[in-house]
Amino acid sequence: MSSYEVIIGLEVHVQLKTRSKVFAPSPYVYGAEPNTLCDPVVLGLPGALPVINKEAIDKMITMGLMFGCDIAKECKWDRKNYWYPDSPKNYQISQYDQPLCLGGEVEVELPAESRNVMGEHKKFALTRIHLEEDPAKMNHEGQFSLIDDNRTGTSLAEIVTEPVFRSSDEAAAFVNALRMALSQAGVSDCDMEKGQMRADANVSVRPMGQKHFNTRTESKNLNSASNIKACIEWEARRQIELYEAGRGHEIVQETRRWDAEQGYGYSMRSKEDSHDYRYFPDPDLMPVRVSEAWKDELRAKLIELPFDRQHRYMEKMGLPYSSASALIGDLAMCRYFEEAVDIYNKPAELANLIVNDLRRELAATATDEASARPIGECKMTPAHIAQLQKLSDEGVITKQIARDIFHEIFESGEMPAALVERKGLKAQNDSGELEAMARAAIEADPATVEKVRAGNEKAINALKGPIMKASKGKADAKMVDEILRRLILG
Ligand code: ADP
Ligand code: MG
Repeated sequence: MSSYEVIIGLEVHVQLKTRSKVFAPSPYVYGAEPNTLCDPVVLGLPGALPVINKEAIDKMITMGLMFGCDIAKECKWDRKNYWYPDSPKNYQISQYDQPLCLGGEVEVELPAESRNVMGEHKKFALTRIHLEEDPAKMNHEGQFSLIDDNRTGTSLAEIVTEPVFRSSDEAAAFVNALRMALSQAGVSDCDMEKGQMRADANVSVRPMGQKHFNTRTESKNLNSASNIKACIEWEARRQIELYEAGRGHEIVQETRRWDAEQGYGYSMRSKEDSHDYRYFPDPDLMPVRVSEAWKDELRAKLIELPFDRQHRYMEKMGLPYSSASALIGDLAMCRYFEEAVDIYNKPAELANLIVNDLRRELAATATDEASARPIGECKMTPAHIAQLQKLSDEGVITKQIARDIFHEIFESGEMPAALVERKGLKAQNDSGELEAMARAAIEADPATVEKVRAGNEKAINALKGPIMKASKGKADAKMVDEILRRLILG
């Protein structure tokens, strides 16, 4: 069996986070009672006229700027004509020959062998991003198909990539990177379970070394990164098997469905060509001019992209990969972290406290994974974390005490310095008192002392436990070590 290369291009649909629909006043809310979020424009009633939603164009331009696309000088509209029950007016308003965003690229981190190692970073080229209307949601129940027009007319961006992916992992990582960037920028909530982000996977295979692409198929509406991965792998294998069996002509350009439950794909319909849709400019809508000033205004509000932030945290702030990658997935946590660093410039230590200790406390407030208390509502503010770290670094409290009081500060919101003062938790660094404790520990455990004298230096640690206990965790660990060594080894 010769070896094949998989070629994948994605079309990702993203519902924009706009208060009302793209050409109509009604809002879209996921999970609302069916057919309650409609209006004459959405339903295509005679005489109803669409009006463009500026917020939708704002989000489109924002997305284009984030990914370095060329933004068209004019945003124009075309009708894509088709008859299907998910489209009450029998056409979808879309952008045909002049998408708002052209070109651009998205940075992606590919999965690595192990979780704590940074994966390879790659940039994948976009073809275009255009704005269109989402059609109705169809619910097929037995012999009936129920139409919910709540979704009809919702602002939908279609992000089309070049055929640039060479594995299902790359395609899935792309979708994850897109979701992280767009949700942090407030462009879309990108909740794939709610259908706010769905991808079509175009797949073809070719023998290694072949220059031209073979015929592709398009699998529609994949609603999770793992479905994208599974569908691509299954479809690539199907095509390879057909080529190997000399039945390559059976691979036709068609639209396919993926049955995620059963784990197989099937043909839905042969692929329409664009002339089947009889595109023409929508006569009800004026084109919108995109001025430089409009773009500048949105550019000024852009967030730093997650992977730009990852690079900055690692290269400029010295964070290890594990902390940086945990932070960048959560914009609120990044803001919290940066605020703490502004107060006390110890990025690696603070990131560690936030990513490990604070996240653990937050998770413990949750009844399920999704309901953890948001970091912004936490009584332990960046100032608390910064002060706690500083008290520990300066030796005012021991590391043990810093760990011990974390939970209490998280719960009460008392400032660490005040808590330490109130409870008398300062590090025990009176050498006289520590020496008395050390002598007591030595006297109580002559066997260990013997071992240390015989050259087993590590055995000395066994004497530290009782001292820590006697001091209630407050004994300065470094001083204790010095004193023990002096007393035992001279
Ligand atoms: P359509 O509008 O008919 O879906 P496009 O030309 O917009 O067609 O391409 C759709 C997607 O198919 C793009 O993401 C593109 O990268 C991808 N694509 C095109 N040719 C191939 C191919 N031979 N193999 C895999 N993907 C392809
Ligand atoms: Mg398509």
